[in-house]
Amino acid sequence: MNIVTTLPITPRRDPPLGLFLQPFICDLISHSNLSLQYIQSFNLMGRKTNMDTETFLAKMKYMGIIPPQIWFDTASDNIEILSALINHFIAEDKIIIEKTAVVSCSCGRVETLATPDNIKAIKQSKSKGKLIFEQHNELYCKICCSLLKIRLDYVLLFHTGFYKPDYEIKISPSNFKAEFNQLWCYFNNKKILISRSSLPHPLIPTIAGEFRIDVDFLWQNIINIFHLQHNTVNIIVTSHKLMQKMVFALIFAREFGTPPPSNVILLPYIHLTEHHSEVYDYMKLAPCLLRAFLLLGWSRQKKISLEFKQLSRLKIPDPESPTRRNSSLGNIPRNFNPSALFKLCAKHSDKYSDEELQILSLLKP
Ligand SMILES: [Zn+2]
Repeated sequence: MNIVTTLPITPRRDPPLGLFLQPFICDLISHSNLSLQYIQSFNLMGRKTNMDTETFLAKMKYMGIIPPQIWFDTASDNIEILSALINHFIAEDKIIIEKTAVVSCSCGRVETLATPDNIKAIKQSKSKGKLIFEQHNELYCKICCSLLKIRLDYVLLFHTGFYKPDYEIKISPSNFKAEFNQLWCYFNNKKILISRSSLPHPLIPTIAGEFRIDVDFLWQNIINIFHLQHNTVNIIVTSHKLMQKMVFALIFAREFGTPPPSNVILLPYIHLTEHHSEVYDYMKLAPCLLRAFLLLGWSRQKKISLEFKQLSRLKIPDPESPTRRNSSLGNIPRNFNPSALFKLCAKHSDKYSDEELQILSLLKP
């Protein structure tokens, strides 16, 4: 079966509205091309909070996005497939066991090869304040407050080959193409750490012994896993912020000999904000408005923000009313086409309009 899917997304109880752009695009594509089955991929493994698949799917359904099939990274046969994939890579010398220096914290959230590049990246990341802080010239993990230490350990390394960018794969929107190719070249001939020292990473039996394998390595092999389950990933969708993960997924597919997807869609970041109100519940809005908001994401900009009140102020026009064009659209970003919004709003949420389907023409070369 030929499929359209996303890189796995985490189904949280309160996801930002912009996250639904990925399922929305997949659903739209499968509705316009009936030979492509939409499978929604979910990522439940790892340290997750507020996960609630049922609520997430209910929100998707409210917006008219109904995946006929769902893939979970936690499905029992994935471990078996992953073990077989790793054994294949070990036999082919793509995965090697090496005693090497690893920098990590006690809780394992920080764990990477202690290469000069990585140490530099860790030092730079402290300024972003996400995972690391500095005290008396030492670096600490923000989560477990332990000092980052360098240790020597036996680890599994994935050795990437040397390739030119794969120009057969179409990148959409095309303005992400240069960045994508640059990243693809950066990961030529690199060693990627795929084993981990602690939970929640699962213990996987391999011909080289048992190793805890990075949960990300599992879902980044999604193209291979689907292939081994007799599905061909034809189109794969993610956020441009996960471009590196997408490059890994394509490298792992290439190294295993799985045909690559013909289209990779890297979506801009679309963000609904609210500054002045404690009421921030987009589920109170009409499904067609939510979908119209998501369509803003199909843009050449990297990031689009719209305030909740701007979205909620929009009235759904009555298609019979001759004055419907006078609705208040003053604060809508310039890149948004108001007439398209009117047409969208006049439609039912359970069907895609011609205007929605039109964005698919952007996928064509
Ligand atoms: Zn830690």
